[in-house]
Amino acid sequence: MKILITGGSRGIGEGAVRRLANAGHDVAFTYLRSEEKAKSVAKATNTRCYRCDTASEDDVRKLHAELGAADAVVLNAGIGSFDQIQDVTLGKWRRILDTNLTGAFLTVREFVPDMIRLKRGRIVAVSSMWASHGSSCESHYSASKGGLEAFVKSLAKELGPSGITVNAVAPGFIDTDMNAALGADAVGEIVFETPLQRAGTPDDVAAAIEFLLSDGASFITGAILPVDGGYAL
Ligand code: NAD
Repeated sequence: MKILITGGSRGIGEGAVRRLANAGHDVAFTYLRSEEKAKSVAKATNTRCYRCDTASEDDVRKLHAELGAADAVVLNAGIGSFDQIQDVTLGKWRRILDTNLTGAFLTVREFVPDMIRLKRGRIVAVSSMWASHGSSCESHYSASKGGLEAFVKSLAKELGPSGITVNAVAPGFIDTDMNAALGADAVGEIVFETPLQRAGTPDDVAAAIEFLLSDGASFITGAILPVDGGYAL
């Protein structure tokens, strides 16, 4: 399967690149800034990397022109930020919505016509448990992921007749650079509140993505699969 993963140079995206390449898929991924890291991941996994800001219409068009059709797209690129609502500037709000939601829209709009033509395709978005549960000081982030989940469910209905499944994973606390700013106390509290009593790893999420791309998931669409150790129960 030819799979495009956005934001694959580190964290969950890198975990997905490694797992899916290891399973024998033809994997391409995007990166935003870290060219050196992206090239080293690509070399280690025998995959291809492309610089692409998924919030840029021009970049996503160029990516499609270079890569061509994909059998599956993993919408992983995303950013987060901790701010009280009174400190959320319009610029910050837009940057988070542009990356996490508009980026997913631009990528899907570019790659879906090939899937419709071929009457098959898989789309998996990386949402967050904070989409449905809300997170204090992450209202912008939670809003972007809530929008992403509504986008996924709507697309599942629209694209199902074309043989395309559209699902999301909703990770809980995953140990990546995105959470590097969290102190040990905050991490300890989250782990304490997690029934499985540990932080998730990028590969935990990659395994769920792999399942949603597999033949075994061919009758699943519009699902939001938690990968959170039970935190959101
Ligand atoms: P990360 O910061 O390690 O990785 C994010 C990736 O997205 C990076 O590769 C980055 O280059 C890329 N990216 C950011 N903005 C981009 C843009 N405009 N264009 C292209 N690429 C861009 O974070 P992560 O933890 O691996 O997060 C990956 C996804 O998982 C995100 O969507 C995030 O919201 C989601 N998520 C993470 C957690 C967690 O606890 N780490 C929990 C729930 C959901």
